[in-house]
Amino acid sequence: MLPGDDRQRADGRPFAADLARATGLDVTLVAESRGLSLAERLFGDARDLTDYLVVDLSDGLTMGLVCGGRSVSGRNGLAGGFGHMALGPGGAVCGCGSRGCLETPAGDLALAEGVGQALGRPMTVEQAVEAVRSGVPEARQAFEENLEWLSVGMAALINGLNPQAVFLHGALLDAADDTLARLTVGVVRRALAAGMKDCVLRRSRAFREQAAVGAAIERLVSQRGPTLK
Ligand SMILES: [Zn+2]
Repeated sequence: MLPGDDRQRADGRPFAADLARATGLDVTLVAESRGLSLAERLFGDARDLTDYLVVDLSDGLTMGLVCGGRSVSGRNGLAGGFGHMALGPGGAVCGCGSRGCLETPAGDLALAEGVGQALGRPMTVEQAVEAVRSGVPEARQAFEENLEWLSVGMAALINGLNPQAVFLHGALLDAADDTLARLTVGVVRRALAAGMKDCVLRRSRAFREQAAVGAAIERLVSQRGPTLK
C-alpha cells in the first residue's frame, strides 16, 4: 500500500506491474487510506454502515470513502486526496505545487511544522504532540489553529458526501484528551445541520496491517472471485 498521491511519484512507472513482473506474484496497489476504509468494515466499527469516510491525518490528509456500500477508488485509484483542496488560496505552498491546500495547516505533519516553527526548532510529530500535551503555550496555539482547519475540512467533506460516520486516524488525536470532542464541536458549528444530524465522528479502531488484509480481500472478491471455477 502507498499513501494515495505517492503513487504519482513513482517516476511514471506502473509500480504494481513492475513489482508483479519482478516477483512473479499477483500484485495490487491500493491507497493506504482506502485500505483503512476496507479494514474499518472488516475489523472496525463500520460493519453495518453503507456510507462512511476514513480520514487519515498522519501523512498529509487522505481519505478512504465508501458510498452506497461501494469502496470508491476513482479512475486512477487517487480518490480521497482531499488534503489538496485549496481551502486557503493565499496560504502556504503545498508539496503538490499548489498553494493553500488543506494539508498545509491541518493534520499531523502540519502540527509538527507549526509547533516547530513556533518553538524555533525542527520537531517530529511525536515531539509536537508531547509539547501540546505538556501545555507549552506556543504548541497549544499551533494545535488550536490546526484543529480549526481540520473542522473546516471535515465539515466540507460531510456537506459534500453526507456520510453516516467519519473515522479518524492520527497522532494529533492524542494531543489532548478531548481532541475528538472539540473537533466534533467545530464540525457541528460548520456543517449543514441536516447532514450532521445522523453523522458521527469516531476514532478508528482498525490499524494499518489490517488495511493490507482488507485490500487483499477486496482484490480477491472483486477481481478473482467472479472467475473462479
Ligand atoms: Zn496540495
